[in-house]
Amino acid sequence: MPVAPFKNDAPTDWSNIENQEELKKSLEFVKSELGKEYPLIIAGKEVSTEKKLASYNPASHKEVIGYMHQASQDDVEHAITAARTAFEDWSSLTFQERALYLFKAAKIMKRRKSELIAWQIYEAGKNWTEADGEMNEAIDFLEMYGRKAIELDEGQKLVSLPGIENRFEYKPLGVGVIITPWNFPLAIVTGMTGSAIVTGNAVLLKPASLTPVVAAKFMEIMDEAGVPDGVINFVPGSSGEIGDYMVGHRDTNFVSFTGSKEVGLQIDEVAHTRIPGQRWIKRVVAEMGGKNGVVVDESADLDAAAKGIVTSAFGYQGQKCSAGSRAIIHENIYDELVDKIVEQTKNLQVGSGTENNAVGPVIDDSAFNKITEYIEIGKEEGELVVGGEGDASEGYFIPPTIFKDVSPGARIMKEEIFGPVLALCKVANVEEGFEVYNDTEFGLTGALYTNNREQIRAARQKMDCGNLFINGKCTGALVGVQPFGGYYMSGTGSKTGNLDYLLSFVHAKTIAENF
Ligand code: NAP
Repeated sequence: MPVAPFKNDAPTDWSNIENQEELKKSLEFVKSELGKEYPLIIAGKEVSTEKKLASYNPASHKEVIGYMHQASQDDVEHAITAARTAFEDWSSLTFQERALYLFKAAKIMKRRKSELIAWQIYEAGKNWTEADGEMNEAIDFLEMYGRKAIELDEGQKLVSLPGIENRFEYKPLGVGVIITPWNFPLAIVTGMTGSAIVTGNAVLLKPASLTPVVAAKFMEIMDEAGVPDGVINFVPGSSGEIGDYMVGHRDTNFVSFTGSKEVGLQIDEVAHTRIPGQRWIKRVVAEMGGKNGVVVDESADLDAAAKGIVTSAFGYQGQKCSAGSRAIIHENIYDELVDKIVEQTKNLQVGSGTENNAVGPVIDDSAFNKITEYIEIGKEEGELVVGGEGDASEGYFIPPTIFKDVSPGARIMKEEIFGPVLALCKVANVEEGFEVYNDTEFGLTGALYTNNREQIRAARQKMDCGNLFINGKCTGALVGVQPFGGYYMSGTGSKTGNLDYLLSFVHAKTIAENF
């Protein structure tokens, strides 16, 4: 079947009044839908449970987005059985046959785009642009993984010998557990689940407890796309009750996780403890945190660098794994650049995403408290030049906060904060900047602003990260354009939005037939 070449979904033009009006209508519609209950889905059937957990609007924390039914270990057991049963037929389809479900889902997402953006604004605290970017990414994942999966039907070309036909075929792994974070509640759920199922696996999807309603919307889409019962089993629940249970289960073949380093490492440990009767070594794909940074040379375009630093640090309140929470600046332009960064930051409006403010709320009280603690640490480690005082009376708002003159070894230079806090550090030259940049346990995204060709060459070798941007911000990697993922404590090294990622969920079989 001929498939049109992949093209990234276009961002919405918010200067267009019609687009604004459409979103305002969707925001009204979603508001009227708030407070509903969402059941588990196992083997295609809705399953209600006694235990329910409310999800709240981080911009207005008394507003309930929805009540999510909570899976028990028994529910997980049923879901694993359902997935194992569905796997029989689903795994026998060709990659192309399965890709068609992803293309259909992409179409439905496009149709429901405005409504889904509104759900993200309410449940995850995004503004219009951030929610729209996430929507595009979700659609791109479906379109890209569908196309890349079709390539897997070919297997790999092998050396041919007379009298023998050799084939190299990709096979799915089996039953997988998908565990997703709250910060990209639609795109990451879509990418992780889409990649695992298009390769022929059946899964249990456990979304983050803070953003389960957006994940429930994803399930509606996959249902409408006709994905057979049991291929995706929806089991939101307390990680304390079902997390280790599903990861460590004898019948789980693989775990696909995105989230914090701490949880990723725990999952890795639990998954790799073999239990009696387990026939396989579980595969763990983990995308984890980052302590990303931007290095700036004296030759750089300082306006562009300031813009890139501010966008990387404060887009979605710094709650992106790729957020640039450190800027490492050549001493000769340090003062000038710091002034520009501070100036731009002061212009950022803080407030709810429904009104499309530049900086919205952080996700919950625990994030608010953790970031506030880091701000107190920052006051000891540098000079506070902007922000610093949060307000959690209505929503969890923390203004963009900047510390200057922070030393390379400071905690706010090394630890992931996951909020709108930026540390500025002065270095004597770019070589030293690379050393400071590399001095964390993470390796996710980085950027270099320079007009010096030699430095660009050096950065390619020396800046230790999975995604390096030259003269551009370190966030906003596009599917297929900049395949995404880190190494070291940032992840197991595969790249999302690419064929690479699909290979995480298959193993290969070589078949030699003699004539
Ligand atoms: P998190 O606390 O690690 O949670 C991620 C997921 O793991 C949630 O669904 C959580 O469930 C679940 N979980 C927690 N403990 C578990 C356990 N013992 N067993 C199984 N599952 C468990 O991370 P988060 O706060 O949602 O997300 C923020 C983090 O994700 C940041 O560190 C960020 O950098 C990282 N991230 C990385 C990428 C990337 O591509 N590298 C992308 C996005 C985010 P509950 O919600 O129910 O606790």
